[in-house]
Amino acid sequence: MNIKKLLTPKQIEICKEEKSYYQRIGIKKNILQIAIEHNFIKKKEKYNPHSLELLKKYEIIISDENETSFFIECKELLGPNRLNELEEKLQKKIIQQTIPVREFNEKFDLILSIDPDIIEKKIKQFNAFDSDDTEILDLLEMILKHGIKNSVSDIHINAYEEFSWLRYRENGRIQAKYLLNKELAERFSLILKEKSGIDLIDVKSPQSAGFTEKFNNEIIDFRIEIAPSIFGENIVIRILDKSNNLKSLEQLFPKEHPMSEHLFHFINEKNGFFLVVGPTGSGKTTTLNAILTQRDRLHEIIYTIEDPIEYKIDFVTQFQVNESVGFDFDTAMKSIMRQDPDVIVIGEMRDKQSVQIALKASHSGHMVFSTLHTTNAYMALERIRDEGGDLFILAYSLSGVIAQRLVPMLCTCKTAASSETGKEYFKSEVLGYEKNGCIKCNFTGYYSRVVLTDIVFIPPDMKTRYTFYMALKNSTVLQAWDNLITFSYYQSAQYLYNEGLCDHETLQSELFSLGYMDED
Ligand SMILES: [Zn+2]
Repeated sequence: MNIKKLLTPKQIEICKEEKSYYQRIGIKKNILQIAIEHNFIKKKEKYNPHSLELLKKYEIIISDENETSFFIECKELLGPNRLNELEEKLQKKIIQQTIPVREFNEKFDLILSIDPDIIEKKIKQFNAFDSDDTEILDLLEMILKHGIKNSVSDIHINAYEEFSWLRYRENGRIQAKYLLNKELAERFSLILKEKSGIDLIDVKSPQSAGFTEKFNNEIIDFRIEIAPSIFGENIVIRILDKSNNLKSLEQLFPKEHPMSEHLFHFINEKNGFFLVVGPTGSGKTTTLNAILTQRDRLHEIIYTIEDPIEYKIDFVTQFQVNESVGFDFDTAMKSIMRQDPDVIVIGEMRDKQSVQIALKASHSGHMVFSTLHTTNAYMALERIRDEGGDLFILAYSLSGVIAQRLVPMLCTCKTAASSETGKEYFKSEVLGYEKNGCIKCNFTGYYSRVVLTDIVFIPPDMKTRYTFYMALKNSTVLQAWDNLITFSYYQSAQYLYNEGLCDHETLQSELFSLGYMDED
């Protein structure tokens, strides 16, 4: 394949620059991969009858769809020619209805306000001509809305020598989005600083703050981290969507989930050590909060040590680590241990010290919950071993580990799978589903996300504990795995497939990225 035929010289230049950036940080990527990430080259996609282009061209809103027809809403009825043309394109009968202009405009604006094509166009316009303050503000709001709509957990703006790069963390993975010129990135930074009350003058030291805004009747918290880097400011906008994050444990693990009963048993123990692990943006905090909310908060003393506190939970005392006033992790832990807790939650175990303190607390009659940054349940144990955690205490106090990540869930517009590949891959009884597209899911076919998990529970009987201890000590944990209660990522994917929650394509690529080469 000749890159020069596919890309313009400017695009090649951008890709080359990024390639060398990746090389510097030790990641191998070729020009083609980078070009695809930037949408310079479109990957072949299944033909989607309802693209935003189409809605814009005909000025219509698709309100419903059945086997034979599309129901559309418009300001004025389409004439016979345009109607015919559209029916041909959509391959279905069109049933149209006018709605008041104002109502139409509101609905239509809502659809377009999160149109990534328009965002891209506006950014390019700015890069070429400059714009006034309100336009920049609108653009930034549009990017935030687009992020919320797509369940993006973080938006990163990283400065490089010539340009800044705006990227989304979606489902735990970074997705390349937009290239901003220096000036646009700086103006975004100013707006964010003003919104969150960060010092505008100080660009030399890292700063963090947050602000709250209402989008489509939902209250969203944004946490802003700004730090200087060699070529300019590095900005991270973390989107804390409360509606998304205060889920109940039943929502995450419904009754029909094969691990549901075990889970409710192990997380409600009086003492022990329970871990929720996964990469950034994998929904660990959501799961941890769901676990806490279903403990008996009225009759238990629950303390958390967090940095930062992301969500407030009723009847739980939350402590924020603040090193600048000497309230560091160690001090916080010592202090709360003297305050007679039943349950202790350690936001994240980042170092040796926190691992050891957590283990000690779990061995002295408390139930300790914490999170770690590892890929699967097994790696969590390895990591604790590496941090010098006491293996005896670990073996005798660990109740369970949930490793997780979030995967896109099929929207209700899903259709029956068109091939048996998924059925075969998951050795399933059912055919499964594949994505479609509708207004609700912004024509992506996916709406919201579900957890894909790798779980291990350690039954408390002495024989199991002893075998587990010996296995930990002799680095043969995987051999002891059979005696524990486990539920692998593959089994979890199989469950999501059988329940019709996810498609084969999504699950297989997720398993692949987790290192599962095939079903064995
Ligand atoms: Zn849909």
